[in-house]
Amino acid sequence: MPPAIIVHGGAWDWPDAEDAPKTEYLRQAARAGYAVLCSGGSALDAVEKAVNILEDAPLFDAGIGSHLNADGIVEMDAIIVDGTALDFGAVAGVQRVRYPVSLARQVMQRTPHKLFVGAGADALAAKLGLELMPNIAFVTPHEWQRFLDKDTSGPSDTVGACALDAQGHLAAATSTGGSPLKMPGRVGDSPIFGAGAYADSAFGAASATGLGENILRALLCKHAVDQIAAGQDAQAAADAAITHIERRFRPSMAGLITIDQQGRLGFAHSSPKIAVAYIDANGHLHAPEHRR
Ligand code: ASP
Repeated sequence: MPPAIIVHGGAWDWPDAEDAPKTEYLRQAARAGYAVLCSGGSALDAVEKAVNILEDAPLFDAGIGSHLNADGIVEMDAIIVDGTALDFGAVAGVQRVRYPVSLARQVMQRTPHKLFVGAGADALAAKLGLELMPNIAFVTPHEWQRFLDKDTSGPSDTVGACALDAQGHLAAATSTGGSPLKMPGRVGDSPIFGAGAYADSAFGAASATGLGENILRALLCKHAVDQIAAGQDAQAAADAAITHIERRFRPSMAGLITIDQQGRLGFAHSSPKIAVAYIDANGHLHAPEHRR
């Protein structure tokens, strides 16, 4: 089965000057994930790799570059979903883990639990030997200025990925710093199974971004994969999921990426913009600029 991958870097509105550099990082992430798939790696390996690249990229609200909360602290959330085992691992409110999505994977594979939060999650990362950094190391000058300006102009640049590997396994992952100046302890959709990500290798996978409080209420990613299970392709399912959330929670300010069992890809958004890149089952890289 030819592999395929799609990645996103958020759905919101941002200055046009950020489009090109964001797209460049997304291309890099898609290529890196696709290289994993082409060398026999699993869909899980591919989405983790792609998201790690975006967690390191300072232009996105995940890992380095995360938004600060109202106390000036970075608190990050992430999830990874194995569509074959119908299993996931997730973390919320971590403050020191360089790659929150990798900790989420360790939660899934090395603990009997599914979701770790706060200090316990950071301590688990230390125990498992994952890379830790002081909280200040996640803070970019841009985000520090946003904090000083008390600029709450919306979530924007959460990252995520969905992939299909050569064995037909599907996986999804999402990583975020949450919304800017959020109340300390606030958790959005990103680490919640069915809301921020979902995958079932029989049908499809999805990763969401945008206003988390709406995405949680809509269980957006589960909704999208349900559409695939009902016979839609990945693009029709993404469109249907956005129609659903926009109808119920307008203005929903949401976006998502999808992939189906045949390796067809989709994305849709109710926000002004979404940032995506993908490599289709023919091996072609696309990074369309997309605004409503
Ligand atoms: N959905 C994320 C959250 O609400 C933010 C985003 O996607 O930009 O935490």
